[in-house]
Amino acid sequence: MATNTGPGITSDHPITHIVIVGGGTAGWLTACLIGARADRDTARPLSVTLVESPDVATIGVGEGTWPTMRRTLERIGITETDFLLACDAAFKQGSRFDGWRTGAADDSYLHPFTAPVDGDPRDLVSAWSEHGGRFADMVGAQGAICHHDLAPRQRAMPDYAGTLNYAYHLDAGKLAALLTRHATERLGVRHVRDHVVGIDGTEHGDIVAVRTRASGAIAGDLFVDCTGHAALLIGDHYGVATIDRDRELFNDRALAVQMPVAAGSPIASQTNATAHAAGWIWDIGLPTRRGIGCVYSSGHLSDDAAADTLTRHIRATAPDAPDAPLPTFRQLKFQSRHRAKFWERNCLAVGLSAGFLEPLEASAIVLIELSLDALLDNFPSHRGAMDIQATRFNTLFRYRWDRIVEFLKLHYVLSERDEPYWRDHRDAASIPPRLVELLALWRHQPPSRADFPMIDEIFPAASYQYVLYGMGFPPPTRGPIATADRARTETLLAQIDQRRRMLAAGLPSNRAYLDALRHTTAPAMELSA
Ligand SMILES: Cc1cc2nc3c(=O)[nH]c(=O)nc-3n(C[C@H](O)[C@H](O)[C@H](O)COP(=O)(O)OP(=O)(O)OC[C@H]3O[C@@H](n4cnc5c(N)ncnc54)[C@H](O)[C@@H]3O)c2cc1C
Repeated sequence: MATNTGPGITSDHPITHIVIVGGGTAGWLTACLIGARADRDTARPLSVTLVESPDVATIGVGEGTWPTMRRTLERIGITETDFLLACDAAFKQGSRFDGWRTGAADDSYLHPFTAPVDGDPRDLVSAWSEHGGRFADMVGAQGAICHHDLAPRQRAMPDYAGTLNYAYHLDAGKLAALLTRHATERLGVRHVRDHVVGIDGTEHGDIVAVRTRASGAIAGDLFVDCTGHAALLIGDHYGVATIDRDRELFNDRALAVQMPVAAGSPIASQTNATAHAAGWIWDIGLPTRRGIGCVYSSGHLSDDAAADTLTRHIRATAPDAPDAPLPTFRQLKFQSRHRAKFWERNCLAVGLSAGFLEPLEASAIVLIELSLDALLDNFPSHRGAMDIQATRFNTLFRYRWDRIVEFLKLHYVLSERDEPYWRDHRDAASIPPRLVELLALWRHQPPSRADFPMIDEIFPAASYQYVLYGMGFPPPTRGPIATADRARTETLLAQIDQRRRMLAAGLPSNRAYLDALRHTTAPAMELSA
């Protein structure tokens, strides 16, 4: 791509015009979050332009979110009802992992979003190892709620409040459409549908404008690269290197399909992730369809074998029409890798341009949200502040990508499955050294806050406990437990049991909640459609 250079930019140059290149989930979330902030902060007027190519399609997947999405939508100013209706969305309360340990029929565990009850993790883990059963079921109420396909909230509760922690499953295309409308109609974001063909920069390397095919140059002070795998600014223009993570995480392909569901059928409360010989299958329930995808390593499984695996899963989980023809599967190719830096001069990469790790635990959209949090919490008012903020951002996000790689790898290294793919995952050379060290530590003590010292760790110790003990990692052996500690833990467990029964009796099913919403808020739905 052509690059022009012009005069330098002084350090007291104010940052007022933000240009976002790319109109996928990353681009429109960025536009809405910056636009909403600009809307509130009249002392610091910001203008936001989003330029999106009519020629390059968005990736169009990304159906699982994190609980952070509730805060994001609230900040943007979209009501929960409008969101649920416009995006065909449902509640997500965690992920269930079937077949990851042995592949046997009863091999299943849950990683719920709600942390275990607040007690000493050593006492809870000891109590669980004495009582037996599933770890997540014992230390919290969410397992039972998920098991019964129940919603995490009552309709009468204020928007985005829940009795249990929750996120959403959604239609990615409809989310982008909702955000587009909201950004352009409510938040004053300028939308340019044009293909970026060049970049104009200063002699010092800052970008001053992106050049488009038909709309001329679009000038700005800060450029956000949301161009997905194209990585037009951070990659093509700046040449920021990528760090491959595929020696740790082997999956590099997915076959995706959407299957309609019968009216009134139950909607699962969690993403179901079912292991297969060389990867896993996601199964996400929305009110009108299931989004299903087979994630696999092309080094371990052929495309045809992956298609057979996916077909078998669909036939086994939708037995009503065993011979009905299936829609065509869509293939997506990806590589687990991220940039060495995410913020270079006056360009910040957000979304797939910054990197992607395989879709396990849905860590991509949350990274978009966290990137925007970090930008907006420390927004550089002037060019002089930008390099300092960029250095901080790069350090923080390098830390985060490393922690995600370790957490995802944890799901694989504890497996006892014997196929080559799973054996390769247990090869010591493929395991990040910090994870090796933590696993050695956790033989003697459960994961705790001390292992994850940052205030806003992306995966807290609780997440590690759920995966570790769900995968059958041996709990640490302990000497006799003091009577007072044992009594305190038994009281906590009794309280959990009571809460579990109370919630199970009082919460509506996902289906009942979402159908009622649809029937009673038809005008809002039309508005958002
Ligand atoms: C198989 C798979 C499953 C996934 N599942 C999940 C999940 O469950 N949860 C989750 O959080 N994430 C998931 N992700 C990741 C998620 O889909 C992405 O992080 C998210 O959609 C953001 O994509 P994006 O906006 O960065 O890129 P894209 O959607 O690819 O958008 C890129 C944009 O850049 C524009 N563009 C490109 N070139 C130009 C140009 N020259 N000029 C102008 N514009 C240009 C395009 O037109 C487009 O608008 C998944 C990804 C894959 C591959």
